[in-house]
Parts: sequence; C-alpha cells; structure tokens
Amino acid sequence: MSSKDAFERVTEVIEKIREPGEKPEDDLYSMDKFVCDLCQGIKEREQITQCGFCGRWVCKDKGEDDCWNEELNACESCSGLITLAQKGDLEEETDLKEENDSQDDKEDEDDKDE
Ligand SMILES: [Zn+2]
Ligand SMILES: [Zn+2]
Repeated sequence: MSSKDAFERVTEVIEKIREPGEKPEDDLYSMDKFVCDLCQGIKEREQITQCGFCGRWVCKDKGEDDCWNEELNACESCSGLITLAQKGDLEEETDLKEENDSQDDKEDEDDKDE
C-alpha cells in the first residue's frame, strides 16, 4: 500500500484554511455553539472536530449527515482529495501535460520528414 505517499501528496495540494489549534467559529447567537466550516451548520462543541489536513472545523455527527469522514480521518473536502490521491487521479494534470508534450513531438517528427 502506498497510501502514505497519497497522504503526503494530498497535504501538498490541500489549502490550509485554519492553523492547527485555531478556535472554531463561534455561533453569533449562542455562546456554546460553533459553526461548521463546511456546511455552516450550528453545532455543539463536541459535535465538531478539526481536520488535520486543512484545519477546518467540521461537524461530526455519528450516523447522520456530517462533514467528517471517519474512515480517512479527514473532513469531507479533504477526504475527496485523499480518495483521488489514493486512486492516483491527482496526477492527472501531469499526465495531461505529458500528452501535450507528445503531441508536440509528433509535429517535430513531421518537420524532420520534410
Ligand atoms: Zn458540517
Ligand atoms: Zn479538511
């Protein structure tokens, strides 16, 4: 398994929204409630958790609609990227560049023929 590489690659791609240990957004109307950085839902302190990849505070309601991927230990936003990285799809952009390069090569070959 090269999932560690995938995680490393993903941390390079993920934009840090908050610093580790930064406080979650307070709900304006209730002191002990906080706002999920992904769905903007109002949550209890124990219902939200900080994503170690992007630093977002996201809701973690077990068994319900939440913004946390328990399996990957990441918020839904990052878990999508992690899944892509694990499948190798994050490299798609470089693959596309290579394809463009080979097209250029073909043109060069045509020039050589003449
Ligand atoms: Zn949420
Ligand atoms: Zn995240």
